Amino acid sequence: MPRKIAAGNWKMNGLRGDLATLKTLANAHGDAGVDILICPPATLISACADLPFQIGGQDCHAEASGAHTGDISAQMLADAGATAVITGHSERRADHGETDAIVAAKSMAAYAAGLVAVICIGETLTEREAGTTLDVIDGQLAGSVPDGATASNTVIAYEPVWAIGTGKVPTLDQIAEVHAHIRARLTARFADGAAFSLLYGGSVKGSNAADIFGVPHVDGALVGGASLKADDFSPIITALQNA
Ligand code: PEP
Repeated sequence: MPRKIAAGNWKMNGLRGDLATLKTLANAHGDAGVDILICPPATLISACADLPFQIGGQDCHAEASGAHTGDISAQMLADAGATAVITGHSERRADHGETDAIVAAKSMAAYAAGLVAVICIGETLTEREAGTTLDVIDGQLAGSVPDGATASNTVIAYEPVWAIGTGKVPTLDQIAEVHAHIRARLTARFADGAAFSLLYGGSVKGSNAADIFGVPHVDGALVGGASLKADDFSPIITALQNA
């Protein structure tokens, strides 16, 4: 069975003073019965080590070390206390020109460091309107997910680019279509494809989480904006517990 995961991506937000949010969440959901993964900025990873959550990075370099000023390796994230790392987030693909091949290399670096790679895929609005969503998903799955992926070392996050931070959410039927497609592709390619956790991401809130978690093959969410405040993230975790 895929693990249920409520993942929070803090992006470039969060100072030490904001860790109180996570202490509030820990009091409410320390024994949630679902996996809670918090991906703060790298500067806060070691400060999160005592929390009853899994902690993840938001990106890593494909190399383990070397002359790459400003970058961070998967090994460094693990050393700081992370157990996972997001790879291929659409903001990295758009802002830093990350291709599927780069995302695959970063995901392999994550495996080498013992981290779970949360590999993000998803179509742009132009691609959705052109009717090419499933083709885009196929290309990203083939190019971004390494052959060494397993249900233990990889989580797939379906994040339509047009839904991230916009308040726009696909219909439940659209989410269902893509998640069923991803599941079919993973099952065809990997022996344990049925056990990969598949997350939906894009403007998830307390008010829509229960409906989204009721969609087949949605095993949790990758949450941006609503993960920054305990009052916003807590109902999403509760909805996942109840799903
Ligand atoms: C994200 O950044 O992965 C995300 C889904 O953001 P938001 O929840 O703010 O749309």
